[in-house]
Amino acid sequence: MKTSVIGFPRIGRNRELKFASEKFFKGEISEQELLLTAKEMQKFAIETQKNAGIDYISSNDFSFYDNVLDTAFLFNIVPQRYTDLGLSRLQTYFAAARGYQGDNGNVKALPMKKWFNTNYHYIVPEFEDNTKIELSSEKPVSEYLAAKALGADTKVDLIGPFTFLKLTKFTGSKKAEDIAEALTAEYGKLFAELAKVGASKVQIDEPYLVRDLDASDIALFKKIYGILLSEKCGLKILLQTYFGDIRDIYDEVIALDVEAIGLDFVEGRKTLSLLKEKGFPKDKILVAGVVNGKNIWKNDYSKSADILSEIVSVVSSDKIVVGTSCSLLHVPYTLKSETKLPDEYIKHFAFAEEKLIELSDLSDLKEDILAENKALFEKRVDSVDEKVRARVNAIKDEDYTRLPAFDEREAIQKEQLGLPLFPTTTIGSFPQTADVRKNRSDFRKGEITKDQSVKFNQKKIEDCIRLQEEIGLDVLVHGEFERNDMVEYFGEHLSGYVFTEKAWVLSYGTRCVKPPIVWGDVSRKESITVEWSKFAKSVTNKPVKGMLTGPVTILNWSFPREDISIEESVKQIALAIRDEVLDLEANGINIIQIDEAALREKLPLRKSDWYSDYLDFAIPAFRLVHSGVKPQTQIHTHMCYSEFTDIIPAIDSMDADVITFEASRSDLQILDALKENHFKTEVGPGVYDIHSPRVPSVDELVGQLTKIRAKTEDKKLWVNPDCGLKTRGEEETVKSLKNLVEAAKIIRGKV
Ligand code: GLN
Ligand code: ZN
Repeated sequence: MKTSVIGFPRIGRNRELKFASEKFFKGEISEQELLLTAKEMQKFAIETQKNAGIDYISSNDFSFYDNVLDTAFLFNIVPQRYTDLGLSRLQTYFAAARGYQGDNGNVKALPMKKWFNTNYHYIVPEFEDNTKIELSSEKPVSEYLAAKALGADTKVDLIGPFTFLKLTKFTGSKKAEDIAEALTAEYGKLFAELAKVGASKVQIDEPYLVRDLDASDIALFKKIYGILLSEKCGLKILLQTYFGDIRDIYDEVIALDVEAIGLDFVEGRKTLSLLKEKGFPKDKILVAGVVNGKNIWKNDYSKSADILSEIVSVVSSDKIVVGTSCSLLHVPYTLKSETKLPDEYIKHFAFAEEKLIELSDLSDLKEDILAENKALFEKRVDSVDEKVRARVNAIKDEDYTRLPAFDEREAIQKEQLGLPLFPTTTIGSFPQTADVRKNRSDFRKGEITKDQSVKFNQKKIEDCIRLQEEIGLDVLVHGEFERNDMVEYFGEHLSGYVFTEKAWVLSYGTRCVKPPIVWGDVSRKESITVEWSKFAKSVTNKPVKGMLTGPVTILNWSFPREDISIEESVKQIALAIRDEVLDLEANGINIIQIDEAALREKLPLRKSDWYSDYLDFAIPAFRLVHSGVKPQTQIHTHMCYSEFTDIIPAIDSMDADVITFEASRSDLQILDALKENHFKTEVGPGVYDIHSPRVPSVDELVGQLTKIRAKTEDKKLWVNPDCGLKTRGEEETVKSLKNLVEAAKIIRGKV
């Protein structure tokens, strides 16, 4: 069998692209120098896959920021406010991605959303009525040619027109249906250009097909592909799907005039049964995604071999290509960069480069390789802790309910905390400046003692508290200087976790996260945040908010186990964080934020699975964390987005006292929905976007707050940025927060 990879990581084994981009943004290197780094990253990806013997390698999977934004620029779908800036093309692209503030104008970035059920974020394209769709980039052609020069005749990877249209926001009167034809025609032009330079294959990614589709979606899809496939220009088309099965549109897809179809056998629960029930056309190639592109565990060869043999009963083996379940973008580069993890652990993992080996192993599975692989799955050291298992089994129904009920607690807390109307606060972290990172890395390398490092952080906390007092915020935070990352930090204090050195995975733009790995049963080894919060509290008379990460987010931003269920893992982590909550409370911290930044992320892509497969255990897990606190203790939670219109009752039943979320980049419809649903939880709809360095003016913030007030009860409204400030610079942060406090004061004056 042949092998195929949907896409490869692009950031660089050592995040070279991130560092080069940051230098470019600061004006320290030229556009030319940035392009050179980009070329190197592409070259590395192509050569690595080529050397591993992969048959079908993608080009054009590279991006400076995001492939959806690339697709928008490819077809000139760029809002006028960005082109009006009169910047170079790359600068215009970055203006749309990151916002722009400078000599040429002042515009916010386009909004960002999670890419399906991953922790990667794409930029939401915006279509204005006067947008002229027009093929206007050489990127796919030049990346194809660059790969060709390296000896790889790649399939050119494109986000498909259906998925692109479904993800685009239409700001005027035109809709996806109105522009489908024009857009598809430009794909056709691109095909012609690719054919002209000798390309023979394209991979069209249509992950949107794994979602629930209605009749109008199916009609749109058919319309698009009717046109698209009449303009193939001799190219062979691989229609690639991933992140699930395509049960709503399987018949239509297999009827298409394409050469190959890619299906996901890892997350696609029904893929195999669809294939068996409905068959597969004899003349087409099936790219079978059996190597998980999202998790880091070694592939279970017996399982994959079983799947492949079932596939063989439907599709002849010369028509089967062994593939990844999705792009390898969602896993780190290589285990070769891990120098500290003992081999006992390492041998159970496979990152992107190791997954290439798995593909080739599976394409022609040898007995000895299979036997060796089987042995791995028989036993893992240190993965079971009987005490943890017993504690989970002993959880009672009442452990999921906090008493007294919300209204009663709300009154008690108002009285106890004595906060002004529209209390101001932040989401937790303050800028992680170079000295903060240096302190952590010096300690890690053993260059300073624990005591020195703690002293440094205490000084930072004290400065941060003084700063917040000076700015005039009402509920203070300690600033999170001790944390590298909101999940890894917790993982480090929990048993059952293992860590990597370089296992970076792209989150948005060129920013990466380094998810820890849940290796075994989880429990709290020691107190995690108590000393920091206690210290912060000791240097101020103002309330200090403790800062924790919730169990669902901890798990969603870790690489999860595959040997026990997610539900079981979440319960274990919830009990561990519950211990920390009670510890904070016992130490006098009476406002505690439990971040569930990633709660929505693992919501199944199909609505019908939302509750049964996820919310029915995720929401109770959150309640399990805080149900033990006193009524006086105020529980906050935070989410990095505002798209929960469709799960408002679930969010409300987390039963937090306050929730802060993102509302600055998107419109405020969420607030209408909260009202309609009689949302009881107090809300802090973030009033400015922290993903951009732009400083919001007092006027702008007053305007935003006025709009918010019109839709929210005054007594339930908090004022805060839309997320943590750790990625921001100090200067812009101070200015922004001062404006925020000033705006809150102005609004108070209007009541
Ligand atoms: N408390 C975290 C912070 O401020 C929350 C981050 C997040 O929501 N992603 O950094
Ligand atoms: Zn956030």
